[in-house]
Amino acid sequence: MTTALHLDRARQAIETHARLVPDFPEPGVAFKDLTPVLAAADGLEAITAALADACAGADLIAGIDARGFLLGGAIAHRLGIGVVAVRKGGKLPPPVIGVDYALEYGSARLEIPASGIDFHGRRVAVVDDVLATGGTLAATLDLLEQVGAEVTDVAVVMELEGFPGREVVGAAGRGRVRVHNLCTG
Ligand code: AMP
Repeated sequence: MTTALHLDRARQAIETHARLVPDFPEPGVAFKDLTPVLAAADGLEAITAALADACAGADLIAGIDARGFLLGGAIAHRLGIGVVAVRKGGKLPPPVIGVDYALEYGSARLEIPASGIDFHGRRVAVVDDVLATGGTLAATLDLLEQVGAEVTDVAVVMELEGFPGREVVGAAGRGRVRVHNLCTG
């Protein structure tokens, strides 16, 4: 099946199954709940196929905590490559390498293993469900650069309009990272 057909099926699945939750996690935020898409057999298959097309050429997938884990494992399996979880602070055993980054309110931390995985020179595609401000993905790119990986692609299911995510990720990837979405919202 071609990339265009995969994209078509993925968009149909999102249209059918995605849920909009107003005022979550705080007033004024329109939360795009994509978990029902992944819970549908045709949805997971369609999303995985389309994101795998975007990640072809990578030799490692990095999935961002937590919905990126579900996507990352399925994509990596489809491509016959490995996957690594980019986790929230304090979850991984030492040694870890971490980065703190600013959220709209407060800050957050992401970590990856500092031992046992050779990131050096690996072509990594980073996956997550939603791209909004781009802070989470930019922090992930920063982390992967610190361990010597080359991030080639960022692939998300939905890119939110009205946010600077694409520019923020572009700057963090020094203009060398392709940003893919399956739909905008
Ligand atoms: P950001 O760092 O602002 O690009 O946010 C990206 C992370 O927050 C992703 O891991 C998303 O799962 C989550 N996220 C941010 N905004 C939304 C939203 N409106 N709906 C669903 N998830 C969101």
